[in-house]
Amino acid sequence: MTDLVFPKYDEVIALALQSDIRVPLVELKDMHTRQAFSASVVKALWPKAKARKTAFLMGQKTYIGKICEKHPCSRRYTYCTHCIKCAVGHSRKHYVNNQQKVINRSRKWRENNKEYIKLFNKAKWQIKKSKRSNVFL
Ligand SMILES: [Zn+2]
Repeated sequence: MTDLVFPKYDEVIALALQSDIRVPLVELKDMHTRQAFSASVVKALWPKAKARKTAFLMGQKTYIGKICEKHPCSRRYTYCTHCIKCAVGHSRKHYVNNQQKVINRSRKWRENNKEYIKLFNKAKWQIKKSKRSNVFL
């Protein structure tokens, strides 16, 4: 799906030793685990990285790239480089052409992830509740 590969921790350490960054190893390890380096770490370890790779290393799903030929939009998905508006179009087209397949896959996922959905909805409800109660503080 994507041509970008997140660097292994050994590679990150090797790059860090070559550069002059002053980031504690614990923080570097934490960023690596979350697959989201800070902007300063990316700039120090991968100085030649372009917008897409920088966004990928920072764990961002989108980045600002070349303006799309079909839309006045330069925000693109990091994993596929498609403009976000084109990606919506691809997604709709895929759904129209494979409606039953998509519905079946979605149904199967919901059946296999009942506990996750329950927890997700509970968390969503709690966030909504806490936001509502903050209004009256
Ligand atoms: Zn587009």
